[in-house]
Amino acid sequence: MTKYCPACGEELIDAAKFCKNCGAEIDNPQKTTNTYQENRRQYIELSDKNYTIAIVVGYVMAILIPLIGLIIGIYLLTRDSSRAKKHGKFVLIVTVVVWTLSVISVFR
Ligand SMILES: [Zn+2]
Repeated sequence: MTKYCPACGEELIDAAKFCKNCGAEIDNPQKTTNTYQENRRQYIELSDKNYTIAIVVGYVMAILIPLIGLIIGIYLLTRDSSRAKKHGKFVLIVTVVVWTLSVISVFR
């Protein structure tokens, strides 16, 4: 999180109590008020990380075993995470493309 001096606009390090440029005293009102949002953001990032394995497995399965790719794609699409939803959509697209190609190659 970047802070700026309220007096001169100089960029400051997080723990700064005084501006290194103009010497103005820096108060830290965000330290307490942002705690909830900060925690919430970290929680969301953490839960996003938990889907990484499912996303990777989803892509691999979409290519190797489309049926499982389809299931993981739907699973990701119904999660409460924009990242999981986005990748779920791509996993489903890959699944459909691979499935279509394999069907075409069988009947050719
Ligand atoms: Zn300053």
